[in-house]
Amino acid sequence: MDFDTITIDGSRLLARLDELSKISAPGVGVTRLAYSSQDIEARKLLGTWMKDAGLTTITDPVTNLIGTRSGTGLCRKIIATGSHTDSVVNAGALDGAYGIVAAIEVAAALRERELTHDLKIVGFSNEEGARGSAGTFGSLAIAGQIEPGDLESVDVEGMSIAKRIQNAHGSPEHLKDAVWEDEILGGFIELHVEQGPILSVAEIQIGVVEAITAQGQFEVEITGTANHAGTTPMSARSDALVAAAHAILAIESLANPSSDPQATVRVATTGRITSEPGVRNVISNRAVVTADIRDTDVTKIKRATQKLASKLSAIAKETHTEITLRQVQLLDGTRCATEIVAAIDYASNLLGKATLRMVSGASHDSQSIAKIGPVGMIFVPSIDGLSHSPKESTLPEDLIAGAQVLLHTILRLDTSLGCRDNPQTKQKWIRGKT
Ligand SMILES: [Zn+2]
Repeated sequence: MDFDTITIDGSRLLARLDELSKISAPGVGVTRLAYSSQDIEARKLLGTWMKDAGLTTITDPVTNLIGTRSGTGLCRKIIATGSHTDSVVNAGALDGAYGIVAAIEVAAALRERELTHDLKIVGFSNEEGARGSAGTFGSLAIAGQIEPGDLESVDVEGMSIAKRIQNAHGSPEHLKDAVWEDEILGGFIELHVEQGPILSVAEIQIGVVEAITAQGQFEVEITGTANHAGTTPMSARSDALVAAAHAILAIESLANPSSDPQATVRVATTGRITSEPGVRNVISNRAVVTADIRDTDVTKIKRATQKLASKLSAIAKETHTEITLRQVQLLDGTRCATEIVAAIDYASNLLGKATLRMVSGASHDSQSIAKIGPVGMIFVPSIDGLSHSPKESTLPEDLIAGAQVLLHTILRLDTSLGCRDNPQTKQKWIRGKT
């Protein structure tokens, strides 16, 4: 078989996505919370498909499902692909599920094809942070970023993560066995629905992710003076809520490229506002607004925050209030590896698919895996940009195109990562097949 003609089974991909989506708690859409009975059942089904694709399967101590086959190379390095098996409450059928089902179809297509690298297909556990727990838990465990103490944190139902994992047939006491060996990862590629409208609007099938967003969470606290809404002249006011209104516009303006040429992909959001005393006929004496700022790296966010601080001090002066800007959390972004971006470009080109370079505004398991090796992501369009919703959907031809690009990206990486063949292993591998 020639590299150009190898293909995934598109109709089975669609049928399997449909079958997996039926494993759900009752209610609208798909609800498959991490460590739930539905999650266990889904893993079982995915494990069967992995075995059919010629993979050896294990469930690791934190319940990541991993299918493996050996390569013929001397380097003993891994090419891995996959996504998460869990969902949020009332989700759609594609977030996470698409990346793992497509990865299994890729392994099935490659069943008769030698690769120099070992191939691992991973169904990550608890990406979404079920019941208020920490998200991307399975991938962080693989990257060695989970400490035993983290297992004792409790979710909103008061149960520890360790207990949850145990109930889902994991073995949290062997947490360290989930960690992948140093330097073992040649490359990890995650195929995912975009969860935003960019590809759909541009009518482009393949998004090549260059970076996964850095994000900063901030609070702006404004102190004014409470006073009578009828008797206090406008010129004598110190109105915290009016200052908050200006602050919200200042936050929004951080993402406006005409006021900051660096803000080409930045987004800035105020999602919450509180005001005290919150009474109709009293001037507000205290207001707090949140700022969620995302960009390709933290340096840009820090620079934007300095800008915000100076705008806020001007607003404070103008409104006779006091304003403080507090950082709640600052998470660094992830650059996708140039060799993987190049391989996705190569595969898309080979298949005649138009691509668009993108930044992922949402977090993904790839961010954890980037701590132990090169990563890349392929996006396909989400119709109307909807996700974390039962209305989440992608055109069947786009789902199939994404999986084809994943297949050819892996074939390209197997060559471009430069693992040399071991003649002995190769013979053994061929003998094993016959
Ligand atoms: Zn996801």
